[in-house]
Amino acid sequence: MNTVHSCGRCGSQHLRRNGRSNGKPRYHCQSCGYYGYLWIDPTVEKAKELLVFKHHARGHSLRRIAQLTGLSRTKVTRLVRTATEPAFLSASAHE
Ligand SMILES: [Zn+2]
Repeated sequence: MNTVHSCGRCGSQHLRRNGRSNGKPRYHCQSCGYYGYLWIDPTVEKAKELLVFKHHARGHSLRRIAQLTGLSRTKVTRLVRTATEPAFLSASAHE
């Protein structure tokens, strides 16, 4: 699942990831030198989260799930923990 990102200023795809700020991934454009935030497709993120639950239900380890989905171990751990809490099922209906 590879998303192609382009620079918000010049449209170049020669971007380098530049860490995170406020939880959002940043990029540095190699063409014009612009610093900006990467736009993460929410539907792609949602699909990955659903995949985490699917793999977890099949009994995969958290490390394996992280490898399969491309998400970080931390994120996978958090998602699985949320999903196994009883409050999750009632709470998710309101979102
Ligand atoms: Zn640029």
